[in-house]
Amino acid sequence: MYMLTVLAAISFSFGLSAQDKTVRKIIETGTTDNRTMVHADHLANVIGGRIVGSAALTEAEAWVKEQFESWGLEVLVQEAGTINVGFNRGPWSGRMLSEDGMMLHFGTPSYTAGTHGKQAGPVLLEPKTRREFDRMKGLLKGAWILVDTESNGMAIDATAKANEERAKVLAKNEEIDRQNNEIRRWNYEHRDEPKELLEYEKATVPFYQEMVDAGVAGFIRSAKVPLQVMYDRPNCYNLTMETLPKACDILLDEAQFKIIREKVLRKDIFQLEFDIRNHFYRGPVPYHNVIGILRGSKYPKEYVLAGGHLDSYDCGTGAVDDGNGTSVTMEAARLLATSGAKPKRTILFCIWTAEEFGLLGSKHFVESKTVPLDKISNYFNRDGGPLCAMGVSVPEAMYDDFVEVCKPLNGIRSDFPFTVEKRQGPPQPRPTRAGGSDHAYFAMNGVPTISFREQDPLGYNFEYREIWHTERDIYNKLIPEYMEHSAVVTAVVLYGLANLDHLLSREGLYKE
Ligand SMILES: [Zn+2]
Repeated sequence: MYMLTVLAAISFSFGLSAQDKTVRKIIETGTTDNRTMVHADHLANVIGGRIVGSAALTEAEAWVKEQFESWGLEVLVQEAGTINVGFNRGPWSGRMLSEDGMMLHFGTPSYTAGTHGKQAGPVLLEPKTRREFDRMKGLLKGAWILVDTESNGMAIDATAKANEERAKVLAKNEEIDRQNNEIRRWNYEHRDEPKELLEYEKATVPFYQEMVDAGVAGFIRSAKVPLQVMYDRPNCYNLTMETLPKACDILLDEAQFKIIREKVLRKDIFQLEFDIRNHFYRGPVPYHNVIGILRGSKYPKEYVLAGGHLDSYDCGTGAVDDGNGTSVTMEAARLLATSGAKPKRTILFCIWTAEEFGLLGSKHFVESKTVPLDKISNYFNRDGGPLCAMGVSVPEAMYDDFVEVCKPLNGIRSDFPFTVEKRQGPPQPRPTRAGGSDHAYFAMNGVPTISFREQDPLGYNFEYREIWHTERDIYNKLIPEYMEHSAVVTAVVLYGLANLDHLLSREGLYKE
């Protein structure tokens, strides 16, 4: 493959335009010295998970900026918001201390409390009624509490509002308890015509605050595997240093949860030990878009954009979501910058922040009109897994431009053919609500957001559902050859579109 490319480069390099030579150079570098996985390795394995509010995200922003600058790009660092309190995650581990002991498989939201070193304690089932609570209140200090409600991925809601709801449910249940006691008395005296007991109302950890105040070590909920540890804006955005969470919030592999619950019911004597290094630091912590700029020579105020998001979900290392999009976009930037590309239009490499918090970075970019929206030819978003860019489907009015620009893509790898198709069916209305990923606010504002058709041509059985927002979002799940190829595709297409003598037509893009 490599030899062929080099030979082709030599035999065709006479009489080529400057543009063709640059494209050749991009492809040559992209096939012989592709560094997409170097970027991905640094993001996932050196920096690690990059949740909004973590020092890791701040470090990642600085690193992207430094990389862009080292390739000779201008960089725009754009603050998109702040969060009150920062939180960092160190390693976490746990085990069951007993003759049948085991290592524990669990996750914990990084904006919840850590332990104070290794913390061992007995295990109790949570109380449901005031009477149960009063019976066990003397045992709560330092205990791990098994909670009845299964994990939904979120931290246990510790906001004042949630505690008010709990108080309401408890008050109702006390009334139900009182009525049930009467029913019991009645039933005792009228055994031939018994009445049914009333059902208690349910709440997630009804005695949450009372147990925290009593000094429990933490709460343990049963969780499906792969573990999913979610963001929860009300609980992590409104933290203050004066009201930090005190009890751990553990999402335990459901198979282990079952075993432990069984042991508690048998009244076995054993302890659980956890070492969780979640730490808080004083904010406000700002988060930023980092945008690499390759300035256009002829139409510097017209733009072609590509991007992915730098922030990630909790628990994994954000390798796939979206270290993938970030690495591919960065490598496209490097390939263009190091190939001496002098595009006519300005190319922006957009590394967005706070996508997982509600597309906050790209929303800010669009709504603050960082660049005039009618001067953007297209925004290419990459956030759909480490797949291979193999085509585009475009409105009729863009078709000839894309065919021309994408021509060189078919000479790269015969097993990764690239096709340009005309979009079938009538144009759809512009989206009115944001969702999905960072293309959303562009699309809502009428900017073309054609993205590459991403596929798994070699059959690696890639399944995004397994990885998405779970503990499996790690480096090992990346597919290097797809990502490397996609970086070359992105670079060539960005360059081609930036060199057209017009912006892409918006005719037929959306229903008027
Ligand atoms: Zn994503």
